[in-house]
Amino acid sequence: MRITPSATNLLNNLVLQKRERGEKVYNFSAGDIALENHPAIVKAVEHGIKRGLLPYPPIAGITDLRKAAAHWMQKAHGVPYGIENTLVTPGGKFALFAALGVLLQPDDEVLIPAPYWVSYPAIVEVCGGRPIIISAKWKITPELIDKYCTPRTKVLLLNNACNPTGIVYTRDEVQALLACAKKNKLFVISDEVYSNLVYDGKEFVSCGGQDNTLVVQSGSKNFGMSGWRIGFAFGNAMIIREMSNLMTQTTSGTCLASQWAALGALENAESVIAYVKEAMEKRRILFFETLGAKVPLPESAIYAFLPIQEKNSEALCARVLQETGVAMVPGSAFGTEGYVRLSFALPEEDIIAGLKMVQRGVFAL
Ligand code: PLP
Repeated sequence: MRITPSATNLLNNLVLQKRERGEKVYNFSAGDIALENHPAIVKAVEHGIKRGLLPYPPIAGITDLRKAAAHWMQKAHGVPYGIENTLVTPGGKFALFAALGVLLQPDDEVLIPAPYWVSYPAIVEVCGGRPIIISAKWKITPELIDKYCTPRTKVLLLNNACNPTGIVYTRDEVQALLACAKKNKLFVISDEVYSNLVYDGKEFVSCGGQDNTLVVQSGSKNFGMSGWRIGFAFGNAMIIREMSNLMTQTTSGTCLASQWAALGALENAESVIAYVKEAMEKRRILFFETLGAKVPLPESAIYAFLPIQEKNSEALCARVLQETGVAMVPGSAFGTEGYVRLSFALPEEDIIAGLKMVQRGVFAL
């Protein structure tokens, strides 16, 4: 089987290689929150390690963490989940894998609105399904879902709040999409890893709480802890059990130290999230002020998805990286040519210096 490598991971490797050679790189390509871990995370891990025991973890996650995650979903997003509805995974990406792995039969179709997160089509293919890309600008609608549904369509893979566009679906839109999914007998996987990085007082509405929905969450974004590789899935008890069975045959659970780290984050969720969100809000303003163009700011997440003057985004990104050391991700990797994605989660001095290198003749603003 040939697996398409992740465009963002590939770019990040290129950036790391350049840095190893001593070249200056402004890495706008990685969706990585450049912030020190909140002290509550560090303290929880130190406390766990001092106890000295690191056996195989319980496959579905330690009980305290599953409880804390379920409690957080209720408190932050109003969705009531119990421990039997909650799975701890090594990252949100693996939660997506496990969900599609247990749901899909060969050639089942999965609807993916574009622009999409770079890994969706490859994950669907690895799990034996067929990605059906729906171009939307920028929101998917019930009409589009109806149009693309066939008797083989099994899953709608929704990303709210969205990487790369930053769009957030309103309550009415979420309800209409869920009603449409139910009518078409679709299962909805809702990737909500940016749910707490929603700006300007805009409401975030989760798709969770229904039998035919599964919510994917992550420590990487809301809690700024990507290196710990920690994620969560919330859904009906049967699918959570199946995903946990899949983990018995793949990861054998999630690293215990990472689970302690996540417990530290979730037990202090309000202050950890405020710490990450405040920094991202500041960098978002700084990024767009430095960019100096009058464009609407993204409603959520950590990205600017900007139109470009050239036709071929891949060639443009390669040239800009070569000439200026600025790394951006081509729109083609998100299924949408004519754009590039830049993260604004990098250190403030890099935002200012990097944008100065790249602006002229690149963006169509
Ligand atoms: N979903 C989206 C939309 C993302 O942007 C990412 C990471 O960039 C993930 C899932 C995966 O997150 P994790 O680091 O938890 O695997």
